[in-house]
Amino acid sequence: METKVYKIKRNAMEMEKIREAADIIRDGGLAAFPTETVYGLGADAMNPEASKKIYAAKGRPSDNPLIVHISSWEDVSLVARDIPGKARVLSDAFWPGPLTMILYKKHQVPKETTGGLDTVAVRMPRDEIALRLIEASGCLIAAPSANTSGRPSPTLADHVFQDLEGRIPIILDGGEVGIGIESTIIDLTEEIPVILRPGRITKEMLEQVIGEVRVDPGLMAEDEKVKPKAPGMKYRHYAPKASLVLVEGQEEKVIAKINVLAEELQKQEKKVGIIGTDETVSRYVGDVVVSIGAREDEESIARHLYRILRDFDDSGVDMIYSESFSSQGIGQAIMNRLLKAAAHQILEV
Ligand code: AMP
Ligand code: MG
Repeated sequence: METKVYKIKRNAMEMEKIREAADIIRDGGLAAFPTETVYGLGADAMNPEASKKIYAAKGRPSDNPLIVHISSWEDVSLVARDIPGKARVLSDAFWPGPLTMILYKKHQVPKETTGGLDTVAVRMPRDEIALRLIEASGCLIAAPSANTSGRPSPTLADHVFQDLEGRIPIILDGGEVGIGIESTIIDLTEEIPVILRPGRITKEMLEQVIGEVRVDPGLMAEDEKVKPKAPGMKYRHYAPKASLVLVEGQEEKVIAKINVLAEELQKQEKKVGIIGTDETVSRYVGDVVVSIGAREDEESIARHLYRILRDFDDSGVDMIYSESFSSQGIGQAIMNRLLKAAAHQILEV
């Protein structure tokens, strides 16, 4: 199958290209598109055969449910029942935006879309291309991240092409995404809502509008026995080809430690990668030294994270050392993804 890549000029909103992708989805096919979080791989959420194609293209385990993307609040009641008042409050505050809500599902939603669960994940994305695509398709669009299972989520159309060329008919290229890590997932089927995946919408932001919110204890746990509730979070999402170790502590000590470790490995003819920040990057000695963004601007760190991990896979390093980040605000989401990529290898200095 040939994979077409259509660049969409955001100021012109070239609807004819978006309509071509929308028609494919309406006919039961797949189309990749940008959202503000990461690129998604979309199919008609209410068509079980279409949903199955997503799992096949990505090589995704069939018990890992998909998020249903909608373009208006009214669409929620097409897929969910017993919708609590807090859902409307959260929608008013954060939709369209990077927040996914877990609600009880209506029986019309095929089990292929929800991985066999009695609940459904729903999100209204903010990205204009995504919204126009949903509207033009006349469908609700089930869409996980548009990567091959086990690779970092795509933040550029080119990442989608690298992973899915020949497996899907069309990619809408809207440039680099704005946020760079997947949506926050909040489970509203519990008495006290629970964050199942941290993201750009932080616990503090959620608590400001709906009061107490818990965090799934399975999220940051190292212990294999404490399983996260979101099926997707239990998978070691992504393992870099090289081993990744995070180094945590006071800045000067972190820099010194990483440099000592890097030099030791270089003496053994190993190629070392280092992830620093704008503030520290010039002080490292390694074979491939990159800045992930500015500590002052944690959003830039989130935006670059997956691209940097992908680039390291191409650069052939044997080992990667990375600075670590705060566990507050969006830092919590960054650390959640980094710790998973590092298989929880963290060194305190
Ligand atoms: P992705 O779209 O690739 O970011 O993956 C979707 C994420 O949402 C995965 O981690 C899923 O496990 C999670 N998810 C989707 N539906 C549900 C649900 N009904 N209950 C819990 N987690 C869900
Ligand atoms: Mg994913």
